[in-house]
Amino acid sequence: MSIVQLRPHLYRLTLGRYQAYLWREDDSVTLIDTGEAGSGPGIVDALQQIGLSRTDLDRLVLTHFHDDHAGSAAEVASWGTAQIVAHAADAPVIRGQAVGPPPNFTEAERELHARVAAGLQPAPPVRVDHEVRDGEVLDFGGGAHVISTPGHTDGSIALHLPEHRVLITGDIAAEHGGEVILGVFNLDPAQAAASFRRLADLDADIACFGHGDPVIGGAGAGLLQVAEALNGEQPEEFPGD
Ligand SMILES: [Zn+2]
Ligand SMILES: [Zn+2]
Repeated sequence: MSIVQLRPHLYRLTLGRYQAYLWREDDSVTLIDTGEAGSGPGIVDALQQIGLSRTDLDRLVLTHFHDDHAGSAAEVASWGTAQIVAHAADAPVIRGQAVGPPPNFTEAERELHARVAAGLQPAPPVRVDHEVRDGEVLDFGGGAHVISTPGHTDGSIALHLPEHRVLITGDIAAEHGGEVILGVFNLDPAQAAASFRRLADLDADIACFGHGDPVIGGAGAGLLQVAEALNGEQPEEFPGD
């Protein structure tokens, strides 16, 4: 486990193979994603390192239902203080009322997935207190805009904090080998590419990915470059949320 401060209010938590982010203000603490099942103690350690306890958590935002993001949401929920937030389209899966559709793997992705997701346990079901949709603004970070990014999962979301020019992408984008890439293991790769372009247009300064190192400074330009390269795979129209 490690916790690294990226900006005055923004932290990156490394939880074994996976990661999460924390937004801390004087009057509220928001965790974004949880890593895999069993990451609860690591999250508690991280909070303690910056002088917080688990009951200081006010909110948990899940970028999507995948087990490497929602894996410890049930444990976080059991601590009793955090409101659990997720997109309406992924909420039934997170609650355990529906089975999440598997990604449409390419051949290469199938092989990669078998390797990187080996031993990944299913996320225990958890309540969702607040279902969000595209355009909703959450009350932290000067207003955290929910950006619907379907294509990775139907209910994938990113968070955009315009006041701080921070973008938390979930799995629509990732960093690998020093490069920003379209995230892998998508339900609908063309739709994911369209969602990626939406994020690129936000001109964020800082981009925090579900996987890989954040881009600190000038993130928007990097995302745009990748978005241009993805051109040609764009569906007829953006499906909204
Ligand atoms: Zn994912
Ligand atoms: Zn992931």
